Amino acid sequence: MTLVDRDRLGALLADEAERFRASHPVSAQLASRRGEHLVGGVPMTWMRRWATPFAITVERAKGSELVDVDGHRYLDVCLGDTGAMAGHSPEPTARAIRARLESGGLTTMLPTDDAEVVADELTRRFGVERWQFTLSATDANRFMLRTARQLTKRPLVVVMDWCYHGTVDESFVVLDGALTRSRPGNVGPAVDPATTTRAVPFNDLGALEAALADRQVAAVLTEPALTNIGIVLPDEGYLEGLVELAHHYGSLVVLDETHTISAGPGGLTGKLGLRPDGVTIGKAIGGGVPIGAWGLRAELADAIVADRDADLEDTGGIGGTLAGNALSLAAARATLTEVLTERAFDEMGAVSHELVRRERALLADHGFDWSVVELGARSEVRFVSPPPRTGADSARAADVDLDRYLHLALANREVLLTPFHAMTLVAPTTTLAHVETYLDALADALAPLAR
Ligand code: PMP
Repeated sequence: MTLVDRDRLGALLADEAERFRASHPVSAQLASRRGEHLVGGVPMTWMRRWATPFAITVERAKGSELVDVDGHRYLDVCLGDTGAMAGHSPEPTARAIRARLESGGLTTMLPTDDAEVVADELTRRFGVERWQFTLSATDANRFMLRTARQLTKRPLVVVMDWCYHGTVDESFVVLDGALTRSRPGNVGPAVDPATTTRAVPFNDLGALEAALADRQVAAVLTEPALTNIGIVLPDEGYLEGLVELAHHYGSLVVLDETHTISAGPGGLTGKLGLRPDGVTIGKAIGGGVPIGAWGLRAELADAIVADRDADLEDTGGIGGTLAGNALSLAAARATLTEVLTERAFDEMGAVSHELVRRERALLADHGFDWSVVELGARSEVRFVSPPPRTGADSARAADVDLDRYLHLALANREVLLTPFHAMTLVAPTTTLAHVETYLDALADALAPLAR
């Protein structure tokens, strides 16, 4: 690991914070007004996570660029932490939204003619044949886990140590030695998640088998590459082994492709030809309009629909009045069929690959022994080399101050990184000129650290 002078880093952080305050007076004023009637001074407390002294207030965003109320125009490689991976307000999606608004009927508790197109497209990409819609990826995961327990008549789920699948109660666990424990900071859990869940390290088939062997596990829920504790890529053969082991012990496999869709049109499921029982997704597929989707193999979907003990139509715990609404599905249809197309993924992958290639060279030139992990249109700088193979290794590789500095220094140079990681996401609207902008900003931010 490259050692960074901590005193210098502290001084640089203070300078950058001062520079940010001075250059964002309108955002500062609005942020202070927001304190009065908003919990934590923001509409959603995650917005406090940015490394900036206060959240910038957005005026507008289009494609890969975002303009704030102080007139700064940023290159946005956060892209709403994947919610805007299609680029901000892509034209086909905007057109579909306008058409739906004008024809009228945004939410009716009845289908329009978009759902089957979206479901066909998701089936083609991910292989599982029957889909339902929600308003978030969180809900898609929640309903998937309920369905898995109902179908298998088993009580437990397996997730990866340091996973994130949205605000899904069962997933808020980490390993403490060999024990599964509630994740630090878990807010008011209804039950101790250690009673519902077994955590296992990513890339460890032995630990997975030990967790499955007593046949108490309804489903293994995982991202095919971890992306929420830094990106952790699967070892070769790991995911295939996971599917095989789970099926051997009668557990279902659910792959959460919400972030890993960056790997290609069908995420890593499509790219590696995996055969999960369920796939969950959200964020990007609505082009910015809230939507989640969960897909099951046909046989499982038929079984849950036929299950007389499962109330899918009213108060059985699976629902959402606005789920499957006309606006979400119109947006998803346009986004999937016209924006996040196969060709777009090819181009996004190529732009991202160029970014990674040059970023690696830039880091080496500055003497940083770091690594850059690549997952299609998504990549991330890790402050260690080689990159971590498990969630716990990845958590240990974090460097809070360094991370904070990079985010803040880049924001001052008009580049927005996702607040949770040093992660860059490429949209169909991200160009090689944007890559240049990003690398220039990064080089400028790193120069005083490298001295
Ligand atoms: N799954 C994964 C892999 C995610 O990264 C996230 C959010 N970061 C979610 C699910 C939940 O998405 P949402 O917050 O939109 O429900």
